[in-house]
Amino acid sequence: MSLASEIKQSIRDVPDFPKPGIVFKDITPLFYDQELCSKIVDGFIGQMTVIPDAIIGIESRGFLFGFLMANKLNKPFVLLRKAGKLPYKKIGFEYDLEYGTSKIEIHEDALKKDWNVIIHDDLLATGGTAEAASQLVKQIGAKVIGFNFVVGLDFLNGKEKLIKHSKNIICLVNY
Ligand code: AMP
Repeated sequence: MSLASEIKQSIRDVPDFPKPGIVFKDITPLFYDQELCSKIVDGFIGQMTVIPDAIIGIESRGFLFGFLMANKLNKPFVLLRKAGKLPYKKIGFEYDLEYGTSKIEIHEDALKKDWNVIIHDDLLATGGTAEAASQLVKQIGAKVIGFNFVVGLDFLNGKEKLIKHSKNIICLVNY
């Protein structure tokens, strides 16, 4: 079976969560299958044309495979968190949601200016969060050389928002 089929078999659809009309792609069942988790990490690494200087994981589900990937690459893992969670000096970026705004933050010393980084999250929906992450990386002076996600919701066209930062956008499964 292909990696994509294996992942799709494990992901659980939860209709009307967190609000009516949204089908939530629950990745927690993946974590019961250690072999599949290793294949996912290898799947991401296998698709890298350039090895990044760091992996950036977006809170919170982006921390899971993001950290495993960075560790396997022997590279730093950088946490990008929602406002107010990081303890040290930080910079933030505010972005629009469907209703209202949200803010993500990164420690000001988390990246070096000449680093090439890959941004990782569990799922690409509208692309707003990953775009905000790219803006923070840019603000620091580092470079986004790619994005990777376990799941891509293609019908929301998230890739269009990200393409100006990097055309290298990998989703292991698409809906
Ligand atoms: P977006 O900024 O619209 O690309 O949303 C991406 C973020 O929201 C990711 O951190 C996802 O974990 C989460 N997310 C959005 N839609 C879904 C969904 N249908 N199922 C699971 N997570 C979602």
